[in-house]
Amino acid sequence: MKKILVIGGGAAGIMAAISAAEHGGKVTLLEKMPSVGRKLLITGKGRCNITNNCDLDGLIQNMPGNGSFLYSAFSQFTNHDVREFFHRHGLLTKVERGGRVFPITDKAADVVATLRLALRKLQVSVVTEHPVKEFTVSDGKISKVTTIANSEYGADAFILATGGASYPGTGSSGDGYRLASALGHTIIPLRPSLVPLEVEEEWIKDLQGLSLKNIRAAIFADGKPVASEFGEMLFTHFGVSGPVILSLSEHVSEFLAAQNGNKSDITLEINLKPALTAEVLDQRIQRDFEKFIRKRMKNALNDLLPVKMIDVMIDLAHIDPEKPVHQLKKSERLRLVHQLQHVCLTVKGARPLSEAVVTAGGVSTKEINSKTMNSKLISNLYFAGEVIDVNGYTGGYNLQAAFSTGYTAGLHSVD
Ligand SMILES: Cc1cc2nc3c(=O)[nH]c(=O)nc-3n(C[C@H](O)[C@H](O)[C@H](O)COP(=O)(O)OP(=O)(O)OC[C@H]3O[C@@H](n4cnc5c(N)ncnc54)[C@H](O)[C@@H]3O)c2cc1C
Repeated sequence: MKKILVIGGGAAGIMAAISAAEHGGKVTLLEKMPSVGRKLLITGKGRCNITNNCDLDGLIQNMPGNGSFLYSAFSQFTNHDVREFFHRHGLLTKVERGGRVFPITDKAADVVATLRLALRKLQVSVVTEHPVKEFTVSDGKISKVTTIANSEYGADAFILATGGASYPGTGSSGDGYRLASALGHTIIPLRPSLVPLEVEEEWIKDLQGLSLKNIRAAIFADGKPVASEFGEMLFTHFGVSGPVILSLSEHVSEFLAAQNGNKSDITLEINLKPALTAEVLDQRIQRDFEKFIRKRMKNALNDLLPVKMIDVMIDLAHIDPEKPVHQLKKSERLRLVHQLQHVCLTVKGARPLSEAVVTAGGVSTKEINSKTMNSKLISNLYFAGEVIDVNGYTGGYNLQAAFSTGYTAGLHSVD
């Protein structure tokens, strides 16, 4: 029976341990924190978006970071396999908007409990509060790992699944990059992905906490369109967040990394009424103004905008808030129409890596066999999850990548 040591008890490490044990390995899982699956508990706002129900091409297209590297892993353990795994272990799943798959109970804790139960059933030895600090290599193979407390663990094969460097409070503080680098692996520079954006405009502070639905947001770099998204966003004290912004942030982060210190102007443009042409929006506003004809401007937009936004939009359109509606000039009204469809924000940058949902960069995919997750440098080393230079958009793609690479690494580690 082959002895397998998995380092890191997140989505990828747990699935790697389960897969290796299911295929006949004697598995030990070393986890740094007091319990496994801590990041999983906060995924999908506590509901855990396990995977996405799209086809294989869809999975790959939604992994802007080295999606094609994952082709084989996604095929060996598909999104249907992930759902089937949870169903088989007693946790049913459901599909929501955009193909997002969640546990039927809407509880990430149930996902973690199901994975823990599977580890127990397969007699995986889970050792918590044991952060690995180094590998010992002899004759081109790893012979053992040593933990911070100087405990040593030997095995026939080792699976490194220590996650990225974001949300370090969950345990993923980037240890795997240091460990892999010490073994000679190339680490592609890390950068935040799926991260809130900071903006310069002071007025956003007045909108803090306001969430907008059905908006279109677009990113422009030096005036050129880069990407746009439709959906929901949120104003914060430092800038903007929410699903649309997190998706766009991948392009901003990539763009900033490629800039090499050169300063570019990055603008975020929000269309508050993307379903309407400017003409139709103008007609709509004229109808509102007929209704509110005896009011002042500051009290005439309640049917059109959230209350928090009214003063800001009137100000940005250079309209006197005290002006009676019936005195508003056509040119002023058209300026307001334009403003509502072109709310421009100057992007200062992305929030730090620690606040990113996902870490882009990591162990170079060029040095990993995509069919087995085996290191091309060390024969008995395998990689799984976010420690690898792969990253996806929101929608369940990152966890699918963790589960697929984990399953693949576990399966081939016992070969
Ligand atoms: C707020 C938030 C919400 C998210 N929501 C979703 C979602 O709904 N759907 C989705 O697809 N993705 C989501 N993600 C992304 C997803 O959680 C990650 O991509 C995924 O958890 C990566 O799995 P992993 O096993 O590679 O890493 P992790 O889950 O980070 O696990 C790594 C584990 O390794 C352990 N470890 C680290 N160093 C050592 C060491 N030296 N020794 C031993 N153990 C170590 C850590 O303690 C940790 O338990 C979300 C991320 C965040 C931060």
